[in-house]
Order: sequence, then C-alpha cells, then structure tokens
Amino acid sequence: MSDGDREDPRAPTRPGSPEKSGVHSVGHTGHADHGRRELPGTAASPGVGIGRAYVIDPRHFHVPRREIHTDEVGGEIDRFRAGVQATTKQLEAIKNRLPHGEHRQILAAQQLMLRDPDLASRVESLIGTEGISAEWAVDRVAEEIRETLMRADDVYFRERGSDITFLAERVMVHMSGQDDGEFQPPPGAVVVAHDLSPADTAELARAGVVAIVTGVGGQTSHSAIMARSLEIPAVVGVDGILDTVQSDDVVVVDAIRGLVIVRPHTDELDRWQTERDRYEVFEDRVQREHGLPAIARDGTHIVLRANVALDAEISSALFHGAEGIGLYRTEYVFMERETPPSEDEHYRHAKAVLRRVAPYPVIFRTFDLGSDKPTRLFTFDEREHNPAMGLRSLRLALRERAVFLCQLRGLLRAAVHGPLRIMLPLVSGVSELKLAMEAVAEAKQQLEDAGLAHAQDVPVGIMVEMPSAAIVADNLAKRVDFMSIGTNDLIQYTLAIDRTNDEVSYLYRPLHPAIVRLIHRVSLAGKNAGISVSLCGEMAADPRYTWVLVGLGVRELSMHPSAIPVIKNIIRGSSLTEMEALARDVLDADDVDEAESMVLEVMQARFPEHLLHGGGQRLAHEQSGAVAQGRSREGDG
Ligand code: PEP
Ligand code: MG
Repeated sequence: MSDGDREDPRAPTRPGSPEKSGVHSVGHTGHADHGRRELPGTAASPGVGIGRAYVIDPRHFHVPRREIHTDEVGGEIDRFRAGVQATTKQLEAIKNRLPHGEHRQILAAQQLMLRDPDLASRVESLIGTEGISAEWAVDRVAEEIRETLMRADDVYFRERGSDITFLAERVMVHMSGQDDGEFQPPPGAVVVAHDLSPADTAELARAGVVAIVTGVGGQTSHSAIMARSLEIPAVVGVDGILDTVQSDDVVVVDAIRGLVIVRPHTDELDRWQTERDRYEVFEDRVQREHGLPAIARDGTHIVLRANVALDAEISSALFHGAEGIGLYRTEYVFMERETPPSEDEHYRHAKAVLRRVAPYPVIFRTFDLGSDKPTRLFTFDEREHNPAMGLRSLRLALRERAVFLCQLRGLLRAAVHGPLRIMLPLVSGVSELKLAMEAVAEAKQQLEDAGLAHAQDVPVGIMVEMPSAAIVADNLAKRVDFMSIGTNDLIQYTLAIDRTNDEVSYLYRPLHPAIVRLIHRVSLAGKNAGISVSLCGEMAADPRYTWVLVGLGVRELSMHPSAIPVIKNIIRGSSLTEMEALARDVLDADDVDEAESMVLEVMQARFPEHLLHGGGQRLAHEQSGAVAQGRSREGDG
C-alpha cells in the first residue's frame, strides 16, 4: 500500500462516511454510456425484478492514512474501541429490527467477529508499533484477514472476506464520530452495489426493494443467503455493473438465468414484465403444494428434505415444505472462532434446531472440515499438495478425537429432545466405519459415566461420497442405519475433477455412466439391507435429474430449500413406472452424451417450465441442450 489516502474499490460509501458525507452516490455519473447493456452474473436468489436503479457507489471511499505521534497512541486505541462498540450496538439494533429470528444469526456471527480478541489486539498493536491512525490499522488488519480468507478453496470461506471488509468499514465510519446512516432506497427500486453486507441486505428487504445486483459475491455469500431467505431476487458477481448503470436507469434483473439488463429497450419491457409474471405464477403454483407430500401418481412417497448450513436457512426449509433437514452441515458451527465449540454448545445448538424443525428429523453431519472447508482450528501439514485427498472430514475427526467426541456427546444429548440422526462424512469403507462407530460408542460411554441424559438409539448413518464406499456399499449398509449419497464429492473423486476448479468443471457431468451405476449400486445395497438411501448432493436439486434418481431407487432427496417445491411438483406429476423406464435407459447408455440427451429430451418435453425456472443459474449454461451441470459449483454443495 502506498502512503496517503487511497481509493478503496471494495467498500460502499455511506452517508456520513469519513471522506464524503451524504453519499450513496445516487445518480453518480460513472462511466456509463446510455445504450442498452446486458451483463451476466450468478443468480443467487430466484425471481425477476424490474425497477429503477438505486446505486450505492463504492468508488469514493477513502481510508484516512495518518501517521501519529507516540502520545496519540492511547487516544487512537480509545477511538478504535469506541468504534467497535458503536458498531456492535448498531448491528444489535438492525438485528432486533429483523422480522425473523433466524436471520439474526448472521448478524450475531458478525458481532462475534467484531469481538474477536485477536482482531482487537492486532489493530491495537499496529497502532502502537507502527505509529499509524486507527483507521489505517483497522484497514490493514482487515485486509490481512481478507487475504487469508481469499486463499481458501471453498467459496463460502472466501466470501467471508467481504464480511470482514464491511465490518471494518462500519467501524471506520463510527470512528469518524458520525453515525453510520442506512440506505433508503425507494420502494420498488433495484439496488445496485459493489457488494452488500448482510446487515444492509436485511435493511433493504424492509425498504421494499424489488431486486438486488452486486458486482461481486457468489451463491454462498451472506448477502445471497439473506436475499434468498428474504425472497428478494438477486444476481451477484456482475462484473462491471457499476461502470454500466446510473441511478434511475431502468434495470431488469433476471435472477433465474443470472442476467442484468440495464436500460432495456422499451419494446422489450413488456416481454420482461410477462416473464416476471410467469415466474410468479409458476412459483405460486408450485409453492401452493408446499404442505403436501411428494407422492408420485402411483402413490410412492419421495421424502424431500433440506440441506442447511446456517440456521438462517431453516425457516426457508420449512416454508418450502421440507420434511426435515437431510443434511445439516455442522462445519459452520466451527467457523469464525478460535477454539472448537464445547459439548454444551453442540448440545444447545442441536436442541434449538430440533425444536424448530419438529416433528421432522434433522440429520446432523459430523464436521466435514479440511480441504474445501478450511479451518484455523487444526494444524495441517503445509506440504499437503492434494488436500481433497488429504486430511479432511472423517479422517480429521478421527485424528482430532477429542473434538469429535465432544461433538458426538453434544449430539447424543440433544437427541433426547427430538428425532436427531448422526451422519458420518467421507467414509471410505468398513474399517474406517468401525473406527468411527467406536468413537460413537465411546462418546455414549462417557455420557453414561458422567450421568448425563442422552438418547440410546440415535440412528447413525454415512455419506457415500467416495467411489470406494459406493463399491462396498453392500458391506457398509449392513452396519449403518441409513446412507446418503453425496454426489458433489462422489463425482469429484470418481471423475477426478476438482469440484472447485472452474477449468475442469465442464467435465463435471452427473449423468456419466460411472456415476449413474454407482448411485444405482448404492440404492440397491440399501434396499437389500432394508435401510433408507438418500441423495444430498447438488444433483438432488436439479429438475433434470429427478426422474433418473427416483428411477434408480433413491427415495429421499435433500437439497437447498428453494428447490423443493419444483422437485415436489415434478414428482407429484409423474409415475414411478415412467421414472424407472428412463433410469433403465440411462443405465444402458454408452456414454455421458447419450445419457444427457435422453434425459433432456424427456424432461424438456414433460417439464419445460420446471427446467427453465427450477434450476437457477445452472440452467443458463445449457441453452443449446448441452448439459454441463456443475459449472457453477458454489451452490449447496
Ligand atoms: C456432497 O459431497 O455431495 C455433499 C453433500 O457434501 P459437501 O458438499 O458438503 O461436501
Ligand atoms: Mg461431501
């Protein structure tokens, strides 16, 4: 960083920001030309929104960078502490204004980040040792943390980088002694910003905006999660949006395909309005059935559950008609903290989740950390060149046995309060399963010894997400209570495609005969052993694959909440006979191209609207019928 003030392209300027007051830059002129422009992005929350742009321009934000004398150090530290305190209070106020308790968790997590003693001591020591202003120190520390997070493979962790930027910005605004005013877009506006913090997104929902567009971010950024659960159409990661749009421009946000049209021609507006209305009618139609079970025409019940990583998603799961949580990714309970959660924290968290989801079951997956879900809690060998095949998931849990036992004890105790199931990730085969089962038995024994109430009969199941596990699924099935196929990893390992590498994502094709046969094999193994087989990879959420999966024998599907109504509607409109016929044909396919065209032909003919509306941004890539599912791997899995 060079000396002197600089422009920071990341942080939005707010009214009363240190460098420029009264700024939303609503109406800034930027570099926009005046013609129609169409920009692609990631559809993060489905729907279509049409309105006038309300631009929150980040480009005039300056971080004051001042060197200080030693006698100013104490004063700067006080200013920093006051800034943190004011920000915490402000987040608390926004949190309390939120209509649903569940959204508050994201803001609570931000407050937690803010209270991190490591963060405070790094800022304070920079002020003292380098003799720099509090703002400068905050900016430097935030940037360091951001850079560390940006190096993570998992997009979820990378997106926490923007959380830290927002927090730093809020603290800096407060340090300037001015109130951090909130945005006030008029109802019906389309908010356009470089990025939005979860707190801003929550406030925007209250203001009645019709859509959100951001220049950065992905499916799992907190603002995307917020937008989804508040049901505001959002397209994120739109490169160049702030160079293109001016406030008051008419903007169409197509958050089904992931497109933003700035200054559309007047003659196309009618078409977009029709498109918006059609989407809303379709959504109403499928959502109307949310309380009904997914029963096929011949009476076969397919259980549809939700994948959840944050409690903020639970109400969305219930709203969309999930019959429970099929995959609770507990690794996020471990996030943004310096020490692993205690047994009591696991217990209280799981109990609270069970209460909200009751009477339906919740399947808690024990922590799947490492590799694409990095953590600062454990030490890894820096020479790990191949982390996806390294110390991750169950292997890590078996090495970090005390942490694993602590989680197991918390879950076993919570199971007294509702139908809780425990799921072990990344099991390779029977020997490893036995080790994990020994840990479960040990956790129970520890609870017995301590005289703590816990459930005796908690079902324990496994994720089948390694080819080895799928191949020996018959042996595994005899020893577990249920199995759930994790296609995100199963495809990665079977086809040797790094799920986080865009360069090879065109090869990520779920209908590859090897994958189809493995799914079939696991479903047969479950059937023979009399246990349930579910599928909780991203494939479950894709309307193109519903018939194949059910036809292959899978009777439970778990997916991100908003996909449930569409998949349910397909199942309710289909018979098992036709689904099995398609699955048989696909099993006979010679190669993936043949399998894909068979499936697309049938599904396109029967469910054109579902394929259009139901697959979010993933369907945008297959206009010509070339199925290249998995190009956007940021979603629920
Ligand atoms: C999977 O691998 O399919 C899965 C559901 O787990 P995750 O995406 O969390 O690895
Ligand atoms: Mg997995």
